[in-house]
Amino acid sequence: MFNVFIIGPAGSGKTALTNSLSMWLDQYEVDNIKVNLDPAVKSLPYDPEVDVRDYINIDKLMMEYGLGPNGAIIAATDLMTTFIEKIVEEIRDFKPGYVIIDTPGQMELFTFRAIGEYIIRSLSEERNAIIFVIDSILALKPSTLISLIFLSISTLFRFNLAQLNVLNKCDMLNEKQIKMIEEWVKSPEKLFLEIERREKGMKSRIMESLLNSINEYLSVVSIIPISAKTGQGLDNLYTLLQRIYVGGEDYVTL
Ligand code: GDP
Repeated sequence: MFNVFIIGPAGSGKTALTNSLSMWLDQYEVDNIKVNLDPAVKSLPYDPEVDVRDYINIDKLMMEYGLGPNGAIIAATDLMTTFIEKIVEEIRDFKPGYVIIDTPGQMELFTFRAIGEYIIRSLSEERNAIIFVIDSILALKPSTLISLIFLSISTLFRFNLAQLNVLNKCDMLNEKQIKMIEEWVKSPEKLFLEIERREKGMKSRIMESLLNSINEYLSVVSIIPISAKTGQGLDNLYTLLQRIYVGGEDYVTL
């Protein structure tokens, strides 16, 4: 059993990737199931084998406790911790190979609240990995790319699991733009220079020391360009996932 948690900011394409990765695996007859951990999602492009919405009804929560949408999502996410054992049992009953886990839309719900920690702890004897999803349109702006990389680092710190970064929606970029982002990631000095050039006034001592501190980190980053829409790059993603599956969680590609 190999649990692959799909994490990333809202709208980055976690749900779309859960769907397309599963379809890609199906195509190659790699045994897999999909788990939806988003209690607030209204409709999904895939049919999850395990679904947290079977345990929690967000509309009912809103009505019963007079909560607004944000309060209800937070309450539902925290409530999920009481069902973790059942959810994990359901997952195990499938005796799956790959378990693709689609996490709540707002990444901070999973990353910073108890639910993420609980489920990862419950599955700790299995192989686990995280795919951190970056929206490639946002990555075109150097300062946003840096911010997203910091978010990815925060996920690594939080869970300490093998982690891959994907640059999703690259069907919306041209070759040159993809190369430019890859170049920035490979040579962070270029990324820093670009920030200085484009965003004058951004440079400050604190910025500089922060950027220096991720310089080394970025030099080992590999961000895999993919498209959850067209399936582009999923073969590369699978190769790296298999390395983690076979090689263990010490293998971290960021
Ligand atoms: P989530 O909030 O991270 O789960 O994001 P979703 O999977 O719901 O995707 C947000 C939006 O981006 C949806 O309209 C998707 O159809 C779109 N999207 C996701 N992945 C891709 C992609 O690879 N290419 C394109 N063009 N659109 C995508």
